Amino acid sequence: MRKKSHQPITSIRNVGILAHVDAGKTTVTERILYATGATHKRGEVHDGTTVTDFDQQERDRGITIFAAAVSCAWRDHRINLIDTPGHVDFADEVERSLRVLDGAVAVFDAVAGVEPQSESVWRRADAHGVPRIAFVNKMDRVGADLDLAVASIRRRLHPEPLVVQLPIGSEHGFEGVVDLVRMRALRFPDGVVEAGPIPDELREEAQRRRRQLAEAAAELHLEAMAEFCTRTAVSDETLATALRDLTLNGDGLVVLCGSAYRNLGIEPLLDAIVAYLPSPVRARVPADPAAPFAALVFKVVATDNGRLTYLRVYSGTVEKGTEVLDVDAGRVRLARILRVHADRHTDLDQAVAGDIVAVVGPKATKVGASLCAPGTPVRFEPPLPAEPVVSVA
Ligand code: GDP
Repeated sequence: MRKKSHQPITSIRNVGILAHVDAGKTTVTERILYATGATHKRGEVHDGTTVTDFDQQERDRGITIFAAAVSCAWRDHRINLIDTPGHVDFADEVERSLRVLDGAVAVFDAVAGVEPQSESVWRRADAHGVPRIAFVNKMDRVGADLDLAVASIRRRLHPEPLVVQLPIGSEHGFEGVVDLVRMRALRFPDGVVEAGPIPDELREEAQRRRRQLAEAAAELHLEAMAEFCTRTAVSDETLATALRDLTLNGDGLVVLCGSAYRNLGIEPLLDAIVAYLPSPVRARVPADPAAPFAALVFKVVATDNGRLTYLRVYSGTVEKGTEVLDVDAGRVRLARILRVHADRHTDLDQAVAGDIVAVVGPKATKVGASLCAPGTPVRFEPPLPAEPVVSVA
């Protein structure tokens, strides 16, 4: 099937999942792909069937080594998930992914809280100015404690946490959350969200926490402050807008929780990605559809279907079949433009500013290369660390 890329730029989210090894990044990614219908079989980490960890070496070692960009759809939005290694040995990969992300989900273990490598990846994301939200995973584990995890995030990473959920049940009994923005209970039987009234025993606590959240948001956000100061209840929309702005400028960290393994809390996480993380239009390097074509190569993978060159398009549009300039390797023809899904590729007729696609055609183009319209050479600086082409058997 061949498609034009008609998706408005504002509905694209280029998102990475940042985590310490074992916090659950692979499981969260799997559950996102499952919830968005990108995969129909739920991959499990322990049996080596996960979709994003496609590299054999990765499967063998049980850690995510090579970033893979996978596209999925959620409520009229396209989410391009760029997998980011959590292992400290792959710092170059982390750097490369951080450059092409517009936002990230930082995954933490609800028992362990912040671990050393979460800290180093967090610092790199700070250096790149990547807007983030946090997902405290493994809420079903014995000893899981959202408040303690949030305290460790505050102490070790120094953001201003804005906790938008209150867990319903704990450890094995964890079964859902109170959404403190919209003040409703979300339960997740079989991973399907059921919204309902807040349970009686949690109502007072939820009201107290919502007030705290609104106060914290208002203190950090002047516009919300105005409404807050009228002493009327802060509206859901005001609070949500304040949270989005605070995420964008890095002043506050929206915190959600769940259990990826048990498929609890994934849909609210997807909603938060769409609501709080920026589209390419509001990204650090804003997409400019009117400018000449320019893109950055952040991944090259040799597959059975040929050599796939992953691009982040920053400006302009490029049509399938056109010649573009690799400022290092000369002119290259983009024979195919592909949207990479978890389990298949879709051919596109064009790629537009803000999107992440893979192309077939360039033979000598390397990771870190800039591709651009032949008349308007652009080189993205600084160059990314060189990387050998990854082979996937
Ligand atoms: P990654 O190294 O960050 O990619 O973490 P994985 O997704 O591979 O998860 C590490 C381990 O934690 C695996 O054994 C998962 O099955 C397990 N795990 C992931 N999410 C959860 C969760 O929500 N609850 C529990 N109890 N275990 C989880």
